[in-house]
Amino acid sequence: MKLHEYQAKDILNEYGVAVQPGVVAESVDEAVEAAKNLEAEGASMFVVKAQIHAGGRGKGGGVKLARSVEEVEEHASNILGMTLKTHQTGPEGQLVRKILIVDAVDIEKEFYVGVTLDREKSMNVIMVSSEGGVEIETVAEETPEAIHKAWIDPTIGLRPFQARRLAFALGLEGKAFKQGVRFIMALYKAFEETDSTIAEINPLVLTGDGDVIAVDAKINIDDNALFRHDDIAAMRDIHEEDPTEVEAGEHGLSYIKLDGNVGCMVNGAGLAMATMDIIKLAGGEPANFLDVGGSANAETVEAGFRIILKDENVEAILVNIFGGIVRCDRVAKGVIQAANNVDITVPLIVRLQGTNAEEGKALLDESDIEIESAVLLKEAAEKVQSAIGVA
Ligand code: GDP
Ligand code: MN
Repeated sequence: MKLHEYQAKDILNEYGVAVQPGVVAESVDEAVEAAKNLEAEGASMFVVKAQIHAGGRGKGGGVKLARSVEEVEEHASNILGMTLKTHQTGPEGQLVRKILIVDAVDIEKEFYVGVTLDREKSMNVIMVSSEGGVEIETVAEETPEAIHKAWIDPTIGLRPFQARRLAFALGLEGKAFKQGVRFIMALYKAFEETDSTIAEINPLVLTGDGDVIAVDAKINIDDNALFRHDDIAAMRDIHEEDPTEVEAGEHGLSYIKLDGNVGCMVNGAGLAMATMDIIKLAGGEPANFLDVGGSANAETVEAGFRIILKDENVEAILVNIFGGIVRCDRVAKGVIQAANNVDITVPLIVRLQGTNAEEGKALLDESDIEIESAVLLKEAAEKVQSAIGVA
C-alpha cells in the first residue's frame, strides 16, 4: 500500500526522523489557515505540495514555493483540483485532492537515502547518494559509483558503524554528520517496524544552518503486514488506486490491468504468468493479470468477467483453470452460470485441466453458450490466435 508524503512524514516524525513541519489541506481556506499557523511559528517561506501517489511532482508543476500567505493561497487554488501529470502517473495524470503546506527549507545540498529489500542478497539494503533530488534510477545508470550501499544482516540489525559509514559517504561533517547518522538509524527503524517495502527520502537536505532534514518522503507498506498496523491501514486512499483493481480486491481477486488485447482469468499466480506467456506466444498481448485464487466458483468468475470486459481493448478472453482441489466439472458449471449472467461480447476460450477435465470440457461443449473449449494449452493458444485474427 502506498502512502502520501504527508502520511509518510507523520510516521517518520514519530520515529524521530527529522522532517519539515507541515500541515495537510483539502481546501484553499485550510491551506491559508495552515500557512498562517506556520507563519506564527516562524515560517517566512512556504512550499505548496500536491499530495498524489506519484513522484516527479515538482517537474509536473505540483510543488511550488510561496513567499507569502497570499502566494500560498494562489498556488493552493491552482494545484487543488488540477490533474497532475508526472512520469509516474501515466499520460492520464492524477487529480489532486490534497495539498501539503510546509515551512520552506533553505537548501544547501540535496541527497538521496532509501531503504528496501535486496531480494538477491536476502537482506535489507540502505542506499545513499550525494546526487539527491534527481531520479535514483538515472543515477544508478549513469553514475553508479555515486550510490553507496549497506546491507543489513537480519539477525543483527543495522549497526551504528554502518550508519556512520553512509553519512561519511555523503560527505557530511560535524553537526550534520551526527544528525545524518541519527537520521539513517531512525529511518531504518521506521522501515522495519512499519513493515515497509520501501522508505525513500529524495531529497534529504543539508540546510544553510547545517541541519539534515527530509524534504520529501515515500513509504510503501507490505499489504500482507497491514493486518498488524491498523493505524497505517486507515491511511489508505482509494482515490489514488485504480477503481477496477479496488473492485477486484473486494471480490478477493488479484487483478492488475495491462495494455494488451486478450483478457485472462486463471487460478494461481504462477499459472497466470504462464498463461500470459502463452497469450504472447499466440501473437496477442495480455490485457490483464487476474488470479481468482483457490475459489474458481460462479461468483468469482462472474466478477472476473465483468472486470475484464470493462477494458475496451479486450478482443478475447482466455480462462485457464487447473482443477486441483476444485474439480473441472464444477468450474465448468461456474463458468457457464457466470457467462449466462454477463453479456460476453468477445470470443471466450476456456481451458480446463486437472481433475475431471474431460467432464468439464463436455459440459462446456454441451452448453448453449458460445465457448471454445480446450484441454491442452496448445489448443487454447491456437483458439486465442484465431479469435484475435493473427496468423
Ligand atoms: P517530487 O518532485 O515529487 O519528488 O517532490 P519533492 O518533495 O522532492 O520536491 C521537488 C523539489 O522541490 C525538491 O527536489 C526541491 O528541489 C524542491 N523543494 C521541495 N521542498 C523545498 C523546500 O522546502 N525548499 C526549497 N528550497 N526547495 C524545495
Ligand atoms: Mn522527491
